[in-house]
Amino acid sequence: MNELTSSKIVCPQCAGENEVPIDEKFTECVFCGSAIYIDKRKIVSHFVINSNFKKEDAEGNLRRWMAGNFQVKDLDKLAKISQSSFYYFPMWYFKTDKSAGETIYLQPATSTSISEIKKINIPAGNLKVYNKKEFNESEFVPPDVLFDSAQSWLKETGVNMDSIATSNLVHIPFYQFHYDYSGKQYAALVESSSGKVYANLWPAKSEAPFRILFALCIVAFFLISLLALVVGASMNHFLAFDMGIKIFGYGFAAIPLIIIAYFIAKKV
Ligand SMILES: [Zn+2]
Repeated sequence: MNELTSSKIVCPQCAGENEVPIDEKFTECVFCGSAIYIDKRKIVSHFVINSNFKKEDAEGNLRRWMAGNFQVKDLDKLAKISQSSFYYFPMWYFKTDKSAGETIYLQPATSTSISEIKKINIPAGNLKVYNKKEFNESEFVPPDVLFDSAQSWLKETGVNMDSIATSNLVHIPFYQFHYDYSGKQYAALVESSSGKVYANLWPAKSEAPFRILFALCIVAFFLISLLALVVGASMNHFLAFDMGIKIFGYGFAAIPLIIIAYFIAKKV
């Protein structure tokens, strides 16, 4: 990252001196063609990640995710997609140097209700220099979280700022889906280079039946242990007998409990 000190900006890629564009945040280096982003007086390279998914394929990934173990039963069949959109979402991208393990930190460069996307993984090889001619600019969400704010966030999370080797602005492609399920609205994002699904909230499996089952397990095993203790005492603490009751008792109790668990998991 470079400071803007004169009427020239130095390209973060080739160090070529460019004229400062008037009223433009995005520009291109006249020497190497690199995309440059100017945030107040800070200059960073501007990258983009290619989209590999068509809308139908992204929706397919969303349906498969809905059919997963953490989602309510039949969500994949019952959810009604009410709205979908495609956009490139801006993220501040920080990478530490080799001594600090080349760790990548990402911070959304605009507000989002789906904070899960902070957990996104970007393989460094996927970064592509942004080129205006190759993309539809209207699909690019402009950043409104300033570079300085992103840096302060990084400092707050305990990252040593001297270890930051690269700072970039990266636009990441997403399909955003809104869907209805039993009268409520939910949103999910499908990252369109990997197909991964991101969501904060979704119709989850109810936990109550599992809690009841857990309580049932504790009661069952407590009673068996008690039985073993009482019978063992009456047999003058004949240890082998005591252990035998426990092993058979636990094994016997486990069968119906496993069957109940299986049916709860299928039903909920
Ligand atoms: Zn350049």
